[in-house]
Amino acid sequence: MSRQNLETLRIQIDELNLEILRLINERAEIVNEIGKIKEKQGVNRYDPLRERHMLNLLKDNNKGPLNQMTVDYIFKQIFTTSLKQLEESKKKELLVSRKKKSEDTVININGEQVGAGAPTFVFGPCSVESYEQVAAVAESIKAKGLKMIRGGAFKPRTSPYDFQGLGVEGLKILKQVSKEYGLSVVTEIVTPAHIEEALDYIDVIQIGARNMQNFELLKAVGETKKPVLLKRGLAATIDEFIHAAEYIMSKGNENIMLCERGIRTYEKATRNTLDISAVPILKQETHLPVFVDVTHSTGRRDLLLPCAKAAIAIGADGVMAEVHPDPSVALSDSQQQMDIPQFDQFYSEIQQFMKQYELKA
Ligand code: PEP
Ligand code: MN
Repeated sequence: MSRQNLETLRIQIDELNLEILRLINERAEIVNEIGKIKEKQGVNRYDPLRERHMLNLLKDNNKGPLNQMTVDYIFKQIFTTSLKQLEESKKKELLVSRKKKSEDTVININGEQVGAGAPTFVFGPCSVESYEQVAAVAESIKAKGLKMIRGGAFKPRTSPYDFQGLGVEGLKILKQVSKEYGLSVVTEIVTPAHIEEALDYIDVIQIGARNMQNFELLKAVGETKKPVLLKRGLAATIDEFIHAAEYIMSKGNENIMLCERGIRTYEKATRNTLDISAVPILKQETHLPVFVDVTHSTGRRDLLLPCAKAAIAIGADGVMAEVHPDPSVALSDSQQQMDIPQFDQFYSEIQQFMKQYELKA
């Protein structure tokens, strides 16, 4: 008898659950309607006075057995979840998001197809110091059949007394070398005021880590058509990094490459901590090519090769590293740049690695 009674009660509970389900969905539909009206009127969805009124109405009518705290709790949940759902459905997908565009973005830089499968290599000195210095590196890059060179003409340095770069003179050196050796130039721009002039000299605008959230600079490069290499900020989360790229794309420039260059952590063994898992996360979350800068992330020559291998193995679209003909007298980052023989060794080991694992070279 009691068993049958339990069954009957359970059937009643099931029916009540279904009834509650039907009612909360019906309620959600009405909330949607209200949302549309409020949107037209341009008023805020959440109205605390209205919510207070609803809770008071429930309190006045609550005959138990549930106490008022429980009733408030349950209804607060219903109120907030339906509002949240409404906001979710309205949330704008970012332009850089994989949800917005499922295919990989491939960027053509004078014939180099960045993001098309084979990794792109960007080598070059930290700073442009002289024509001879850049040309020496360019020769070695060209000899490897590579197509890009980096070098800073405007250097964002920790101290204002450190070498600040050759400025426009540096851009001219890069342009001359680029013509002579058939290489595309990647160089950092630090202020919107320099963009226009720089456009004639360079092929890729680099936005450095220190400027990742310089929103006026991001918007200004977004207004050009030049490919942009956006470096992750020193202490930027992946979400902040993605939104920085969105600033550029929101202005119409879709040619964006992301570059993981290490983040600041408590670890002192390396200059920064290479966040290698950022690569597949960025590839999942966005449709943009992702680079790894093994020089600034590690600050150690002995780690350049293993980290470059890791970057390629995990799916990076490109690797950046610094090369200087005589690093010990370099005007910036003298500790971490490779000299030319080290560069030759580095590149040949990378190629061997790609062959060994049948990675697209
Ligand atoms: C650079 O690549 O020249 C540079 C300064 O790197 P970051 O902005 O990543 O520190
Ligand atoms: Mn450097």
